Amino acid sequence: MAGESQTTTAAWRELLGPLRAEPGRAAILTDFDGTLAPIVERADDVALPEEARAVLLRLIDRYAMVGAVSGRRAADVRARVGLDRVAYAGNHGLELMMPGESEPKPDPSVDGREGDAAAFMAGIEAARLDDAGLRPEDKGPIQALHWRGAADEARAEAVAREVAVEGGRAGLEPHWGRKVLELRPVGGGGKGAAVASILAEDGVDRVVYAGDDRTDVDAFRRLAELRDAGELVTAVRVGILSAEGPPEVTEESDVTVEGPAGWLEILAWLAE
Ligand SMILES: [Mg+2]
Repeated sequence: MAGESQTTTAAWRELLGPLRAEPGRAAILTDFDGTLAPIVERADDVALPEEARAVLLRLIDRYAMVGAVSGRRAADVRARVGLDRVAYAGNHGLELMMPGESEPKPDPSVDGREGDAAAFMAGIEAARLDDAGLRPEDKGPIQALHWRGAADEARAEAVAREVAVEGGRAGLEPHWGRKVLELRPVGGGGKGAAVASILAEDGVDRVVYAGDDRTDVDAFRRLAELRDAGELVTAVRVGILSAEGPPEVTEESDVTVEGPAGWLEILAWLAE
């Protein structure tokens, strides 16, 4: 559905009114990095602010479902959020841990191809990545290269683009995020599939999803499809703005707010 993304408090309050009015039928879904938690130089240092954790606790008590949908491993994002009664989708939907579950379920769509990205990355000379300032991250079926904080970020990105082309030839799918390239098995997961799985397990018909990056747009699109198909009464897509965010986050959202602070303001209002 085309339309201008709304930016005022009055506009998002109106759009989110149906969730707040019927919290027992509502799901609150959120990306983690850059949405719930501010981005910092090293991905490993990203932490959930205490005030955000306090608001999430109130939301868990009140709403049918609270879910975190992340590019991190499910166990990683759960450790950072630190709350049990939350659904965690990790690795962009390749892993799903529903509230109370202790082990993530892998996405069957990548059965037999879990090791493809790691095998490809093992064939790349470590010195080539190192010289370019690219930091590899092993996420199991997904292999990532980060260049935030590299001495020459443009050069690092250029080498990442070469690696992406080579990965594509090796049958992997490149996904670009904020200063990160990820190589995944073709057709696996996606945040849209993750959102649909979380919602399938619960009888909710009104949803808000917030995200700041390209991978979140996949969830935005899936929610719009579910809304257009009549499976959801309300689907509100909140784009989190940042200086480095892709334009699709604005183009395909219903509401945009500035950074994690803007999203926390919405969450606090939903929790009131
Ligand atoms: Mg993010």
